Amino acid sequence: DAEVVLVGRSNVGKSTLMRELTGHKFDTGGKPGVTRTPNHYDWTAEDFVITDLPGFGFMSGVEADRQDQIKTDIVRYLEAHADSILVGILVVDGKSVVDIIDRHTGEDEIPYDVEMFHFLRELDVPTVVAVNKMDKVDDRDERLDELCDRLGLLPPWKQWQDTIAPITAKRGQIDALEESVRTHLHAQKRDDL
Ligand code: GDP
Repeated sequence: DAEVVLVGRSNVGKSTLMRELTGHKFDTGGKPGVTRTPNHYDWTAEDFVITDLPGFGFMSGVEADRQDQIKTDIVRYLEAHADSILVGILVVDGKSVVDIIDRHTGEDEIPYDVEMFHFLRELDVPTVVAVNKMDKVDDRDERLDELCDRLGLLPPWKQWQDTIAPITAKRGQIDALEESVRTHLHAQKRDDL
């Protein structure tokens, strides 16, 4: 079935965004690492299933082995379903993502968010980065330019509006994301003709 997948570290606001997209209630702000298996829901505005994958990365109270297992499961799921995934949405926290990426960039370390972004693209899955919690970001353009830079996209971010979607899920401000996702969906429909 045609599918849109959501990936992202825990606590970036994935549950909040899912609630906005589907009208379904989710356990937000709950215990990190609770979503452990892919969950499928109907996206009300469009005719496909939206899949919430478990949050990855550091979660207090979740052991390192368990975290690695979660990540492996996510990668396997994406590989197995790449052909039917229409769009991948990588959700990040706009307030902290650049700092987290920079902190985890090292000789043999690739930050999760950067890794996932490239992994989805390698699988030929059109990817949108939902930059959430923009209500907490003052220097909006600067921050989004930095994020582009870290993801290997040449700034300014405004050139990448199909890929970079600033949102504030908590206030229901997700137009930019819906717009970007639709652009990819319609581009694919045209290709199918
Ligand atoms: P998840 O772990 O990724 O599913 O994250 P949640 O949806 O549970 O959200 C984690 C925390 O971030 C909660 O306290 C949310 O209220 C908060 N949050 C979610 N979206 C936003 C947003 O757009 N702005 C702000 N300031 N906080 C948000």
